[in-house]
Amino acid sequence: MNISIQNSITQLGAEFVGSTNEATIDAVAIDSRSLQNSATTLFFALVGPNNDAHSYIKDVIEKGVQYFVVTHIPRGCEGKANFLIVNNTLVALQQFAAYYRSLFDFPVIGITGSNGKTIVKEWLNFVLSPEYNIIRSPKSYNSQVGVPLSVIGINEQHNFGIFEAGISTIAEMEKLEAIIRPTIGVLTNIGSAHDEGFASTEEKIKEKLRLFDRSQILIYEKNNAIDALIPSTIATFSWSCTHTDADVFVTKTRNASNTILSVRQAKGSFEVSIPFLDEASLENAISCLLVLLYLNYDVATIQTRMALLYPVEMRLQLKNGINNCSLIDDSYSADFQSLKIALDFLESQKHSAKKTVILSDIFQSGLPNSELYSRVGQLIVANKISRVIGIGETISQFQNQFENCITFKNTAEFLAQLDQLNFENETLLIKGARSFQFEKIVAALEEKTHETVLEINLNAISHNLNFYKSKLQPTTKMMVMVKAFGYGNGGFEIAKLLEYHQVDYLGVAFADEGISLKNAGIQLPIMVLNPESTSFSAIIQHELEPEIYSLKGLKAFLKIAEQHNLHQYPIHIKLDTGMHRLGFEAENIQELIHTLQENQRVVVKSVLSHMATSDAEEHKAFSLSQIRLFEELSSQLIRELNIRPIRHILNTSGISNFPQGQYDMVRLGIGLYGVSNDREEQKYLENVSTLKSVISQIRTIPAGDSVGYGRRFVAEKPTRVATIPIGYADGIARLWGNGVGYVTIHNEKAILLGSVCMDMLMVDVTEIECTEGDAVIVFGESPTVMEMAQKTQTIPYEILTSISQRVKRVFYRE
Ligand SMILES: *Cc1c(COP(=O)(O)O)cnc(C)c1O
Repeated sequence: MNISIQNSITQLGAEFVGSTNEATIDAVAIDSRSLQNSATTLFFALVGPNNDAHSYIKDVIEKGVQYFVVTHIPRGCEGKANFLIVNNTLVALQQFAAYYRSLFDFPVIGITGSNGKTIVKEWLNFVLSPEYNIIRSPKSYNSQVGVPLSVIGINEQHNFGIFEAGISTIAEMEKLEAIIRPTIGVLTNIGSAHDEGFASTEEKIKEKLRLFDRSQILIYEKNNAIDALIPSTIATFSWSCTHTDADVFVTKTRNASNTILSVRQAKGSFEVSIPFLDEASLENAISCLLVLLYLNYDVATIQTRMALLYPVEMRLQLKNGINNCSLIDDSYSADFQSLKIALDFLESQKHSAKKTVILSDIFQSGLPNSELYSRVGQLIVANKISRVIGIGETISQFQNQFENCITFKNTAEFLAQLDQLNFENETLLIKGARSFQFEKIVAALEEKTHETVLEINLNAISHNLNFYKSKLQPTTKMMVMVKAFGYGNGGFEIAKLLEYHQVDYLGVAFADEGISLKNAGIQLPIMVLNPESTSFSAIIQHELEPEIYSLKGLKAFLKIAEQHNLHQYPIHIKLDTGMHRLGFEAENIQELIHTLQENQRVVVKSVLSHMATSDAEEHKAFSLSQIRLFEELSSQLIRELNIRPIRHILNTSGISNFPQGQYDMVRLGIGLYGVSNDREEQKYLENVSTLKSVISQIRTIPAGDSVGYGRRFVAEKPTRVATIPIGYADGIARLWGNGVGYVTIHNEKAILLGSVCMDMLMVDVTEIECTEGDAVIVFGESPTVMEMAQKTQTIPYEILTSISQRVKRVFYRE
């Protein structure tokens, strides 16, 4: 990209305030934490419901950026940089991208639909890449912000584009249409995702179709409901397995490991083999097939390429590695755009200062190799990577573009040398194109444990955090509770993500939890809810902040503060307003005030209380009385001690039910992890944790035989039984056994047979096509933790925090 600031001012209709508008910019950024080449970057200060990038501009100027698109010049920044002032910075970003797109004239495929967008995009890229230099959306960048950023990635060498567009409500698609301006439209499966954003399915389909307003052709599966809504001005190329009047009629024949599609169209018939059996993959494959037909590919080429379609893995996974390393597994793609995203993730999740990147040859950037690898080199320097291991013939030739770099011709050569490379105490990004089979590297470096894993979706955590943030006043601070190992999900990784999102405080139950976070490099302030007096010294040593809930505790802490000669050490005063667990009661307040008066050893950083029934409508009056008492007691402290503490009382359900009690901060817990007490609110949260295992063994037993301890299940008919290696020692309640609960195997429910054992459980797979080694979902989307809690007479909190530490945690980001 090379766009002059002059031109940008014109395109955005911006008012310019600054000293020079002579420069040319070659990059766009929206995030102060992931800047690449600062001096020639145009920074758009986006304003979200709870995050305003204007407040980071000072930092961004310090990092060397000189050009900003803003709605106003933040105080203190006048004269320090150049500003393009607009009414709305998101609209400006979209206008900028639309203008940039208009400078290019090549075929562009625009993909939308409820499911399958990313897979269709990746597959189209795969089948078309031998003929074209393709620019495509990285990962699933398909939103109002993601689409402009994707399109801005186009450069002069590209001659084909593939972009996906996702919407959640009306009036969004026309904006994306203007940016993508697809010449070829692909509509994938329409499901129920985002239904809540639309008045009806019809409205949703109409909105999606707006992406194709100016396309030369729309490729879609024929369907009466959709046909009725397609404007007559749009030319179509349709397929179907049921409507014989579609342009392409497809019949499927499933074999053991592939499906033969018989394709019938006006020009004749042929067959292709697809290496998938499931319905969704076949639909996505047929969408790709129609694109190839539309682009006049010959049958032989179509057959060869479609037979090579592969499972698409779009996630960046964070895993524990050998020798105290952690691994970011991105072993499925290597293009420049997604490298940027992966390096960002590496920075946000690094466990140790040492960062290593293992990188294969990079494909399809559209740039000449010398320029490409020089840019990659710059990216590596900007991200302060300690060492680079290049694998592949091309990257080996450009070894001199990297500092501290060694290279190998291929993956096998690298694996043969693995032992000499001394991977230890570092965070590794493993990023390679599919053909390099970097999954072998991941397998070699991954810590080995058993096959049950708890997968944690970091995007979902970010989503849930933003959902609750959007319920707060802009000035309300947020403490996030990461006690009990992040409600069972993970300590450091989640804390790191929260730090990235700039929450204000973390809360833990005990000092040792806080110490391990601090030792792992977390810099956010951490409040310890239940500090034992024996841990006070350690608390001070690690700069943790104790909650003080009794005079005894206060006096003990003051004594230690005296010994350490502390001055104004932050403490948090807990008031008991009705929970009757910990805290000062009304009758102790005078003595508390007396003890704190004139004391310079400590400073009351915050005053808090905790609600007992914020989730229960029937106890609303009690909750309100707690808030009233909190108001009274905290006001007394503030008045008589003449202090300005942060006040906070609300937990997750308090945030939802008592907005009047937000005070200066709230304490978010269970909601972050995707669980709400409210059915309606639950719909807006995303599932965070999925407990996965595999089938160890399958057998068929005759009628009359029993399964498990105590013979509590006796088969009435021949029954196929699968054994799963997870039991009550891993946190699966015994109440879930004996026909109460189920697991999900290939999207179908398999009911638990007999009692849950310590390390195993058995399920009924009589009606489910499956084999040993197949994946099993113990909880996640189905069953949900909520459902499990209900049927086992407990609460989601207990289920999440009971998953044993022997279950490996794997974190991923989409
Ligand atoms: C655990 C806890 C929270 C968070 O509660 P959730 O119901 O999970 O939101 C808040 N405050 C205190 C004092 C807690 O112990």
